[in-house]
Amino acid sequence: MSDLLKYFQTRQQEMVDFLTTLVNFETPTLDKVHVDKLGAFLEEQFRSLGASSVTRITQEKVGDMLLAKWNEDAPGKPIMFLIHIDTVWPIGTLAERPVKIDENGVLFGPGAVDMKGGITLAVWSIRGLVERGELPNRPIWILMTSDEEVGSIYSEKTIHDVAAKAGLVLVMEPATKEEALKTWRKGVGSYTVTVEGRPSHAGNAPEQGINAVIELAQQALKLNQLNDLKNGTSVSVTVFHGGSATNVIPAKATAEVDVRTLTEKDWNNIQQKIMDVTPFVPGAKVSVSPGHVRGPMEHN
Ligand SMILES: [Zn+2]
Repeated sequence: MSDLLKYFQTRQQEMVDFLTTLVNFETPTLDKVHVDKLGAFLEEQFRSLGASSVTRITQEKVGDMLLAKWNEDAPGKPIMFLIHIDTVWPIGTLAERPVKIDENGVLFGPGAVDMKGGITLAVWSIRGLVERGELPNRPIWILMTSDEEVGSIYSEKTIHDVAAKAGLVLVMEPATKEEALKTWRKGVGSYTVTVEGRPSHAGNAPEQGINAVIELAQQALKLNQLNDLKNGTSVSVTVFHGGSATNVIPAKATAEVDVRTLTEKDWNNIQQKIMDVTPFVPGAKVSVSPGHVRGPMEHN
């Protein structure tokens, strides 16, 4: 094992060439034809690296996904690499920003960090171990998806199903700025708070109105009190809309809220508090609807 680093250092140029090849495939998520070209290239790579099976999971709207397996009959739960081959960059970005390597030897190109660099590491880890005859005697899987940049909407179920069978999943997303491996992340949720009041003329009959902005302002302050930053919980009211005209008591107001927690326990606790709203202003109706919500992945 001790000479592994040295071994991979001797292959560095080949890895850089491989990464350059990957970046030179432009793969915006919703351009199936282009994404499938990179998928086909990687399928070939997996087969040439001796995968015992490569299963295609066909998709209509996005690129086909692949599940490649090595040593699939070996004992133990699989070690799985999770990669995605799509990027956020539209076709044509490459012409404007071709791959370049600066004077410090850092490679730049659309999608190089997220995550064609990660794909390079996964493929070359396997290639190196195969060439050295040191592939561990347990199943090694690569699950390749194609829709991460739109929220993994088509692959989410497959990821859940396949990853549940693995003993260890290495998500090949970029590391932190300090190049550390991420082994946990916070839960993230967004919520919309809507208040319905009653409109009325602010000059003639203000007392007949139910002021949705005043109600929502108090809800916002209450939400703000849920912050517990030292324990990793943040509750941020980030967008606030309300009212229709200067002389009308506002009948409607909405706010958006961003919530993050470190632990599952805080996550459940905070969700309950956010969803449980009692109006401050008599007659106001307050409702909360969750948007994109993903619970925390705690360190374990
Ligand atoms: Zn990514």
